Amino acid sequence: MGRILQAFTPYLRGQRPLIGGSLLALFAATGLRLLEPWPLKFVFDSLFSSAQPLPGGSDPFTILIYAVLALVGITAMRAMADYLNTVGFARIGNRVTGQIRTDLYSHMQRLSLSFHTKARSGDLVIRLMSDVNMLRDVAVTALLPLLANVLVLVGMWAVMFWMNWQLAALALATTPLFWVFAHHLSGKVRQAARKQRQREGKLAASAAESVGAIRFIQTFALEHVFVRQFAERTNKSQHEDMVGSRMTARLERSVDILLAIATALVLWHGARLALAGALTPGDLLVFITYLRRAFNPVQDFAKYTGRLAKASAAAERVLDVLERQPDVRDKPHAEPAPPLRGAVSFEGVSFSYDGKTPTLQQMSFNVQPGERVALVGPSGHGKTTLAALLLRLYDPTEGRVTIDGRDIRRYTLQSLRGQMSVVMQESFLLAASVRENIAYGALHASPAAIEAAARMAQAHEFISALPNGYDSEIGERGATLSGGQRQRIAVARAAVRNAPILIFDEPTSGLDEANEQAVLAGLESLARGRTTFWITHDLRAAARADRVFYIEHGQLLEQGTHQQLLGRGGRYAALFRQQSSGEREEEQHALVA
Ligand code: ADP
Repeated sequence: MGRILQAFTPYLRGQRPLIGGSLLALFAATGLRLLEPWPLKFVFDSLFSSAQPLPGGSDPFTILIYAVLALVGITAMRAMADYLNTVGFARIGNRVTGQIRTDLYSHMQRLSLSFHTKARSGDLVIRLMSDVNMLRDVAVTALLPLLANVLVLVGMWAVMFWMNWQLAALALATTPLFWVFAHHLSGKVRQAARKQRQREGKLAASAAESVGAIRFIQTFALEHVFVRQFAERTNKSQHEDMVGSRMTARLERSVDILLAIATALVLWHGARLALAGALTPGDLLVFITYLRRAFNPVQDFAKYTGRLAKASAAAERVLDVLERQPDVRDKPHAEPAPPLRGAVSFEGVSFSYDGKTPTLQQMSFNVQPGERVALVGPSGHGKTTLAALLLRLYDPTEGRVTIDGRDIRRYTLQSLRGQMSVVMQESFLLAASVRENIAYGALHASPAAIEAAARMAQAHEFISALPNGYDSEIGERGATLSGGQRQRIAVARAAVRNAPILIFDEPTSGLDEANEQAVLAGLESLARGRTTFWITHDLRAAARADRVFYIEHGQLLEQGTHQQLLGRGGRYAALFRQQSSGEREEEQHALVA
């Protein structure tokens, strides 16, 4: 709880005037609530005992009129004050949680890939949306009424003790019992709430994944399997919710009983005092009203334990993300990178994803500005990881990566990545227009620059043929385009960025021959004059590079031109022989067919 308060109080600072105003309204409402039963007292006393000295003359009708007017007046003012503080606190709640949500989102965006590869996107969305909403709802609808009621409570007990301390003490006698119940149950409620929030996160994560995989699910006719799984998980989450609700209901009902006992005690003893003349009937009425009201916060506490528990579980989940430091972040004295020439060096770079198995080992090389390097080798041996280190998606465990002779960790991430363009095997397109998707490469690109990039990527023709040209909307992840078209948009996006350093990660695999040729032509013209790292399985593409790096087990085993490596007769030459014999066989098969 301390951690939660500490983390979220800074958000309240900017809201001071509104908090001040709302608190003022709250105090006013509290004071007026304390006054509310008093007109009744005077009416009752004037009815039941004419012996009592009465204010405002002794005419009972005058008193009745004053009392009735006071009753309406006090209640109206109290209603006004309550309205103001409810609205005020709701506004504070909205502003604060809006801020928290924006901060959480921007923090998620900055967290490193090492976090995101482990986190589940659906769970993160639940944290961002429903956990933050839960915080707001509870802060506004549970925490504040509780605060208000505690104020009322203090005021009422003070008046009750002032009126008759023995009776007040009698009324208080049952409260320790409440704390025993509450203490016993609220721990369990909190545990159930935490579990329920976690389950909800998991449920959303698997729902998001299965919706994303709908094509696969339908192709394999697995709908019923996923529906069953989903139903089972929903049931479990509901079960946890029910555990919480049952505990809360139990707590609420025990408060009802405690309240009845306290009322009975006060009624019994108070009536005897009234009969003995030590108390007026009106006093007893005020007392009983106060007693019921004084138990309000206790009742609220019981009613809201479940919600408070859920909110604290939600707050913990929000903080878990907010308090996580990105592994890769700007160093304290990082500077924006100047326009880079593109001389890239790895100096004894080693890297491991899990801190145990080495993925890259002691890798060293120098690449000249404008040089094209093909990265070749078996799958899963570290080529993509090399590119990720160059982009500074991860930092090396050992050694350093330099560009133009300076460690890339001395540059700000934004300025470093801003000078690199990437085309991946599966290019990421968002549900937006073609133009916007290309412009993600360079946010302020002019329409002319976008078109020029599309022409270079051999994409202009098919884009112009779309119903709305560059303004055609493409579905989520580019669902409405073919693989080759998506890839050409990705090349255009890389081109519009006009970056000195390029990274291509198997951009043509999975494409048919015609599309492959179009994408290749785009990539070739883009790569001219820029430092290019081209990860490929196609050794014909490798042959056109200035230099080939052969990578196996995270080590740079061979480097040189295609011809040099063939002449050396090592691993690369063996791979080349294997691939060309495979192709010859295919050609022969084709001829025979
Ligand atoms: P390549 O590009 O040569 O196919 P990668 O660089 O993608 O190889 O992967 C190298 C090794 O690192 C593989 O064994 C892979 O399983 C592992 N790896 C890749 N990405 C991650 C990750 N995010 N977390 C943990 N291990 C990873």
